[in-house]
Amino acid sequence: MNIAIDGPSGAGKSTIAKLLAKELGFIYVDTGAMYRAMAVYFLENGIDASDEEKIISACEYADVTICYENGEQQVILNGKNVNKDIRREDVGIMTSKTSVYPKVREKMTLLQHKLAEASDVVMDGRDIGTCVLPGAEVKIYLDASPMTRAKRRFDQLKEKNVSCDFEEVLKDIEDRDYRDMHRDISPLKQAEDAVFVDSSEMSIDEVVETIYKICQEKK
Ligand code: C5P
Repeated sequence: MNIAIDGPSGAGKSTIAKLLAKELGFIYVDTGAMYRAMAVYFLENGIDASDEEKIISACEYADVTICYENGEQQVILNGKNVNKDIRREDVGIMTSKTSVYPKVREKMTLLQHKLAEASDVVMDGRDIGTCVLPGAEVKIYLDASPMTRAKRRFDQLKEKNVSCDFEEVLKDIEDRDYRDMHRDISPLKQAEDAVFVDSSEMSIDEVVETIYKICQEKK
């Protein structure tokens, strides 16, 4: 059984997907982390996000795999654990710019298919229900208002003592939404058979419970 959770940045996908996977005894697959690892490679090698030719050839040399340590997904880039690097703001921005390229998506989709074939997964991302796992038994489109998502991101950054400006965080979220929703290949959109869940006014537990119930109905 596969569960696809799509939605924009900051909607709570990874928190919810992780808890849900634990409750169901499934493997949690964070596909954004994979695209982020590719972006780390491009940044480390000084590749410009607009240089598609260089991005295409770099795809040959960036080996991304995932493994689990104490139940937490770890992303390995060419043998090195990059779990900490992938959460940087510059990496997030680079990721949304470079995930538009077909070569990058092809490489990541292949890896995601292999993971879903090997285990029952809760997979989160932008195109899981529409492109990666169109046959997933449960599809959720998890959303929240841009203000709510920016507030959550702002609070997370503050907690990590990263200095930031709320307006900038909000603008970054809106820009990222625009890029993810308007790219030619696998844009972020709700699959026709996905259930829409708005987490703006819901607690984490409420969202997990809502999706858990949907999964039980499909079992
Ligand atoms: O989910 P997360 O914020 O980590 O994703 C980072 C970026 O990776 C997104 O803004 C999006 O551009 C890209 N992504 C994607 N397809 C996915 C998952 C993430 O294009 N399935």
